[in-house]
Amino acid sequence: MSRIAYVAGQYLPHRQAAVHIEDRGYQFGDGVYEVIAVVGGHLVDEAPHLTRLHRSLTELRIPAPMSDAALKLVIREVIRRNGADNGILYLQVTRGTAPREHAFPKAAKPVFVVTPRRSRPPDPRLGQEGIAVITIPDIRWQRCDIKSVALVPNVLGKQQAREAGAYEAWQVDREGLVTEGTSTNAWIVTQDDAVVTRAADNAILNGVTRGAVLEIMRREGYRLDERPFSVAEARAAREAFLTSTTAELLPVVRIDGNPVADGKPGQLSRKLREAYLTHAAAA
Ligand code: PLP
Repeated sequence: MSRIAYVAGQYLPHRQAAVHIEDRGYQFGDGVYEVIAVVGGHLVDEAPHLTRLHRSLTELRIPAPMSDAALKLVIREVIRRNGADNGILYLQVTRGTAPREHAFPKAAKPVFVVTPRRSRPPDPRLGQEGIAVITIPDIRWQRCDIKSVALVPNVLGKQQAREAGAYEAWQVDREGLVTEGTSTNAWIVTQDDAVVTRAADNAILNGVTRGAVLEIMRREGYRLDERPFSVAEARAAREAFLTSTTAELLPVVRIDGNPVADGKPGQLSRKLREAYLTHAAAA
């Protein structure tokens, strides 16, 4: 079956799906996106993803490309046409196509794209064995709460992680506090079993997976502390893990080459991973 994408009103074979060279997403990174997991034909946490999409659009003053009802129809049609019952959907809305000029164009119409990816990473071994992260300076702008397609610092950070043999790079602000990964949220478990993750301020993307894990923790009575943590605190932690739609929940067992505790996935991380996978499967 060929892969079908939705591009500005049309369902097209993936290879023919294209936007104009003067699309503002291409020229300025002037657009937003969402990544939603599909498990067993169902969208995982669709409502918070669409809420965040609207928030990102509003913050950038980009009009919604269509009503929510129409948007949901397009999403479901892309799943249907691709038989994409298990995978990832990528949604993108840019401000539109117009002659290149920084200020908003008067007549541009938002360009909406939906593309599927059939398989959902990560390799289950990563969940069992854990992954390594490195720490790098956070060189991004001051509105990381907006899910903007302008991701060059994140791209550079992820590449640095890959070249260091790590899965992710945790970005660190000028105060020495971890903000988040390049495409994941960062968590630690302290020696006295408090789970710590930065509160959703402008320095991080408020991850939908983060929200789902917080909800599980509140329901199950975990000790939670929403505050920033330093690299030193992370290195001294009992456990560490990261979350995102594509990574789900992965234990972090090395930070900058040093083992976290005994270098094996911690008990809380394993339990929370199982609970999150159950939540995703029940979508
Ligand atoms: N932080 C950043 C910078 C991201 O790009 C992402 C996901 O792409 C996340 C966190 C995790 O967000 P979510 O759980 O909604 O996938």
